Amino acid sequence: MKVLKFGGTSVGSVENLHKVKDILINDQDKKIVVCSAMSGVTDQLVKLQEFIKLKEEEAITKNLHKLESKHNDVIDALIDDQAKRVELKEGISSIITKITELSNKSYTESIGAEIVTYGETLLTYVFSNFLTSIGVGNTLLNAKEFMYVDNVDNPNISKVSARLGEIIKSSNDSNIYITQGFVCKDHLQAISTLKRGGSDYTATIIGAAVEANEVQIWTDIDGLHNNDPRYVDGTNPIAHLTYNEAAELAYFGAKILHPQTVSPVVHKNIPVLLKNTFDPEASGTVISSKIHSKGLKAISAKDNITVIKIKSNRMLMAHGYLRKIFEVFDNYKTSIDMITTSEIAISLTIDDTTFIDEILKEIEGFAEVTVEYKHSIICVVGESVINDKNSHRLFEILNYIPVRMISYGGSNNNISILVETKDKIETLKFLNEKLFLSHQEAAV
Ligand code: ASP
Ligand code: MG
Repeated sequence: MKVLKFGGTSVGSVENLHKVKDILINDQDKKIVVCSAMSGVTDQLVKLQEFIKLKEEEAITKNLHKLESKHNDVIDALIDDQAKRVELKEGISSIITKITELSNKSYTESIGAEIVTYGETLLTYVFSNFLTSIGVGNTLLNAKEFMYVDNVDNPNISKVSARLGEIIKSSNDSNIYITQGFVCKDHLQAISTLKRGGSDYTATIIGAAVEANEVQIWTDIDGLHNNDPRYVDGTNPIAHLTYNEAAELAYFGAKILHPQTVSPVVHKNIPVLLKNTFDPEASGTVISSKIHSKGLKAISAKDNITVIKIKSNRMLMAHGYLRKIFEVFDNYKTSIDMITTSEIAISLTIDDTTFIDEILKEIEGFAEVTVEYKHSIICVVGESVINDKNSHRLFEILNYIPVRMISYGGSNNNISILVETKDKIETLKFLNEKLFLSHQEAAV
């Protein structure tokens, strides 16, 4: 069994849905296909949540109309048979009715979560029926019936495995199972999500649950690049990454992968392939436990980083001080990304500022604190990157850009530097030049 996941752009237009269909037809293996919502749809549902909170009736109706006609247009373009089109539009209408009913209730977080998962419901309904209409047998599975993820950070794979196994056994034998990404059931059995971009994570949770041979993540780019192609010219796809490298890059900003993607499959040693829907022959990136090469591999950047500087003379020669600080962050379930210390001060970064006021208030009780927003962590990644003979070149950045923090040696696979976000692009370009281009030229 394989698991294939198609992202928002891959399923974002009629033309692209045909491409996905071709990819499925060209692969004879038994597979579970995880789909995102069409691109833009989840954003639209997030807006809908806001309109419901504000009770803006007119905007709610308009939003739902737009959602319905978007999917009806896709049905018109995909399905030839008139009677089938009518039937499918009725199906869409009843899904929209369900969203409308939720919109009429008074807003709760759990209603909001349920609403945003409907993009995947709509798309998989259309896509599965499209495949059936052209004679490509498939079975549509409802992810809400098996994605029991009590703890999003540490999903109980055996629970998903047991439920999904039963469902597959009792449904029609099929070569293609289609299901929704992003949605899950939480520990209270309420509908929840795996956070934005979470369909990648759905795919690897399912991959681990069915002990798949491989998980393929199909996107709109030919694999993970060695720098951010949105900002830097001349980046290249990386053929092989280890799980460690992929996890670091995904956590530190590589947009192509949800940060938790590889964690469910690492222990089962299931490879994850990053493939391009628009160029299926391109080899993409293979993520596995195998180390193909050591040293510098890639650079990524994570924005919206907040720096907290904590200073106290009481830290001088005192022990237990760090514990005291970390406890505050722990109490507010806020994770820390980067840390540097001196004898009387500590600087650290967070990306989730939900409880920042509470955290600052507690720390101000025993130390001086300053906060700065709008920073970015630039992360240089590779197995044993700290031993790479070229990695020293990255420190030349200190001559050009005001670097706020550096983290070296925390792991052998990652060197992180913190800059103001306004300096991010220049930093990425500089590092690309120093670490990849000039050193490639030198090697030629
Ligand atoms: N549709 C969801 C989102 O836009 C999940 C995903 O695409 O992975 O975040
Ligand atoms: Mg994505």
